[in-house]
Amino acid sequence: MIKSYKVKLLLNNRQKTLLSKSGGTARWAYNFFLARQKENYDDGGTFISDGELRKEITQLKKTDEYDWLGEVSAPRVKFDGINWWLTVGVEVDDNQVNTQKTEAIGIDLGVKTLAVCSNGMIFSKPDIRDEIEKLRRLQKRASRYYEKLKQQGGENRCKSARLKKLESEIRKVHQRITSLLQNNIHQMTTQLIKLNPEAIVLEDLNGSGMLKNRHLSNSVRQAKFYEIRRQLDYKCKWNHVEFVLANRFYPSSKTCSSCGLIKRDLRLSDRVFVCECGLEIDRDFNASLNLKRLAG
Ligand SMILES: [Zn+2]
Repeated sequence: MIKSYKVKLLLNNRQKTLLSKSGGTARWAYNFFLARQKENYDDGGTFISDGELRKEITQLKKTDEYDWLGEVSAPRVKFDGINWWLTVGVEVDDNQVNTQKTEAIGIDLGVKTLAVCSNGMIFSKPDIRDEIEKLRRLQKRASRYYEKLKQQGGENRCKSARLKKLESEIRKVHQRITSLLQNNIHQMTTQLIKLNPEAIVLEDLNGSGMLKNRHLSNSVRQAKFYEIRRQLDYKCKWNHVEFVLANRFYPSSKTCSSCGLIKRDLRLSDRVFVCECGLEIDRDFNASLNLKRLAG
């Protein structure tokens, strides 16, 4: 099995500058050679070209010391504007399989919470109010500069140093928010996977996002959903857990998890699901129980 790792590279300013200047698709290779080339930089040397690096790597693959390079598939370096990320795929032995499976888990994505699970686990969202506030302040300041630029009829090329600094700060806050949200999801998916369930069933985007609360930003909900799906998808694969994505038309919220009756008139504001059969249950928990049924 090929496991993919994403690594944040810690580079000094000089290395960052050199990396930013270099073009081409094989930039990842520079990172591999960074340590080796350090002397080169310090002596004021320039970068080895892509073509030369590729040739070097091909040669290295043939040596005993670097034959593992042949196991690295599709590595790439990604730029989020601040940090350098190196992604590598590594062939790993996946013989160790934990066969002691536990019950399948249904996951309902909440509005107030991150998720409610059929095994009773509830995952909360990270508190990002401070970051959002900071972002709002910075964007407000930046918008004044943009306004000025507009009046002067200038385009991007006229950006002042102050505006550039503001934009950099905004990118950093954005990145901090993304990282907080992502870590929050990582904690959840890892905890669930560690239970080693037979299957994990996730509701589809239609059921989770837009329909539940139209006031929330759709793009934020979508991003959250795709990140959860992405993580579950690969973590399930790595740990031999079946991953099921519910049909987007499956009425997980509107179905009674006890008698199966479908309550068409369930409103967004109904936080408790009350059924004729006598069941009174938290709306999200009810949905997670229905999702769990879709396993196997
Ligand atoms: Zn019922």
